[in-house]
Amino acid sequence: MTVGVAILGSTGSIGCSTLAVLDRHRDRFRVVALTAHTNADLLQQQARTWHAAYVGLVNGTNGTAARGKGTACLVEAATHPDVGIVVNGIVGAAGLEATLAALRAGKRVALANKETLVMAGELVTEAARAGGGEIVPVDSEHSAVLQCLGGRAPSDVSRLILTASGGPFRTWEPARIAGATVDEALRHPTWKMGRKITVDSATLVNKALEVIEAHFLFGLGYAQVEVVVHPQSVVHAFVEFVDGSVLAQLGFPSMELPILYALTHPERVPDHGPRRFDALAAGALTFEPVSPARFPAYAMGRAAGLAGGTAPAAFNAANEVAVRLFLDGRIPFGRIAEIIERALRDHAGTPAVSLEAVLAADIDARRRAEEAACS
Ligand code: MG
Repeated sequence: MTVGVAILGSTGSIGCSTLAVLDRHRDRFRVVALTAHTNADLLQQQARTWHAAYVGLVNGTNGTAARGKGTACLVEAATHPDVGIVVNGIVGAAGLEATLAALRAGKRVALANKETLVMAGELVTEAARAGGGEIVPVDSEHSAVLQCLGGRAPSDVSRLILTASGGPFRTWEPARIAGATVDEALRHPTWKMGRKITVDSATLVNKALEVIEAHFLFGLGYAQVEVVVHPQSVVHAFVEFVDGSVLAQLGFPSMELPILYALTHPERVPDHGPRRFDALAAGALTFEPVSPARFPAYAMGRAAGLAGGTAPAAFNAANEVAVRLFLDGRIPFGRIAEIIERALRDHAGTPAVSLEAVLAADIDARRRAEEAACS
């Protein structure tokens, strides 16, 4: 008996990697539902290859066989009765409602859409508790933590150390970073990913989002979640236990292992992934602190996490706006952090007790970010 999988964002980087993994494990999994944002041609091709029962196109016009249209198709795919696991590979806030619906319906959510947990960590964890669903991270650092934990309780853990590659500007002077072009920001040294997350890796906003994600996933305080820059991206995270023992998970950068593990956790299955680890080929592994002068938005994200309530949702929304403006060539790279800072300055945080409160904070921060960008 195979497990039915829904892939939200099937034509994106995570979606395509997930299908590559599933192709090697057809004896365990089958594709039930696929959704894509705009790439109707690739979606149709995937649907044919995998005989998907449900196909949804969020924002497309040309004639496809897609059954669902608009954002409602995400929830329909995520709650399809034949689906056991939802791989959420959507970029940004758009993935939230589908995550909540899947968890309430008792599904496992293999979560690559970290913005979901950042925006509404309390609501997402509550939905999982109420509906019997389960969140398993696809993010490589959080997958590493989950693997090191081996089922231990949060009270056994003293500290997590997430690694960051440092992105393309790790050694640049701050003034040069401020004027970086889109091409330069998209030239990630170790990971091949979508455009939004690649820019987030260049600002280290991605790592701030991951700190918040770790707080909610593993039930740890912010003081227990540290970050070090590790340019080789071989060690994905360290977990320090209360007795002082430290475990780490290693591997050459590839999303296929974290995706496979999110599907099979807590089991491990034999796999021939892209590239086996080789300690000699990995060579020297180095670690350095995060530079506050190069990556000012990182501290803003941590502060939003610590403030709690709707502050992380506002941080995420302001960042989404700033990154889109940068990718559209409308603001220089250096303004991303400045726009986030200004959008958050007057944000009146409230408890994140309802979806309405979270979405209101999201909308408010988007408006403030747009205003900040124009002035
Ligand atoms: Mg990551």
